Amino acid sequence: MRIQRGGHRGGTASARHVVAGLALCLGALTACSAFAEPSADEKRTADPPTTDAREAPLPGEDPASGDGTSSLDGKVIVIDPGHNGGNADHPSEINKQVKIGNGSKACDTTGTSTGDGYSEHAFTWDVSNRLAKILRARGAKVTLTRKDDKGVGPCIDERAAVGNRLKADAAVSIHADGAAASGHGFHIIQPIAVGKNAGMVPRAARLGRALRDAYRDGTGIAYSTYLGEDGIDRRKDLGGLNLSTVPKVFIECGNMRNKGDAAKLSSASFRQRIAESLAKGFASYLT
Ligand SMILES: [Zn+2]
Repeated sequence: MRIQRGGHRGGTASARHVVAGLALCLGALTACSAFAEPSADEKRTADPPTTDAREAPLPGEDPASGDGTSSLDGKVIVIDPGHNGGNADHPSEINKQVKIGNGSKACDTTGTSTGDGYSEHAFTWDVSNRLAKILRARGAKVTLTRKDDKGVGPCIDERAAVGNRLKADAAVSIHADGAAASGHGFHIIQPIAVGKNAGMVPRAARLGRALRDAYRDGTGIAYSTYLGEDGIDRRKDLGGLNLSTVPKVFIECGNMRNKGDAAKLSSASFRQRIAESLAKGFASYLT
């Protein structure tokens, strides 16, 4: 049985004010923002990623080995940190409907949080900056779709447009899920061809497998126990995938509502491991 879907579709800001928000979230596949209470974490910007000697290729290493330490010189990578810290306080802006290629959807959502109040938007912002630093050190040209963790949006159509404008070699949207607490593990979300994205779907499938393998091996987090198959789900209701013309996938890095996953996602050192793992996945796909 498919239970509640990803945190990236976790309801609208206005849903935070629904008294029965918790029940809605568990029962109606939406409104997970009932969990997204403001916390100190939401005010934080990302910790500066630490410099890691493993970022640089070692002397004598084959630069084309695809083992995660290869040069990514000139490769254009777009990282989309899901949600934004200001979304919850701007319901009218983020609930505005935008076209997603096969229908309409809210501009953006608030995302989920752990039981201790560590928010998804803070998590995605931190991981994205750590990942960007590693990829830039290897020569990639990296662009994030938002400039801080205090703003609103951008809308999901704009998040896709950033990669299209830059003709990115690869793009990823980083999330963590807000599913039932009994489920754990990560999954990749690959696109389904719905028109504009048709040309990139086969490449996105390769990118998704590369990121899945690297994430599994690097973090030790298991494939999702509640969604997808072998760590991969496919969807056609996400504007970020429907509107992308460059290879793009989403990753739900774990389930923030699950205690075991939440402990990992809340750890700065584990988030560095997540970033290093994803960087290896990009290197595997791009080299
Ligand atoms: Zn999300």
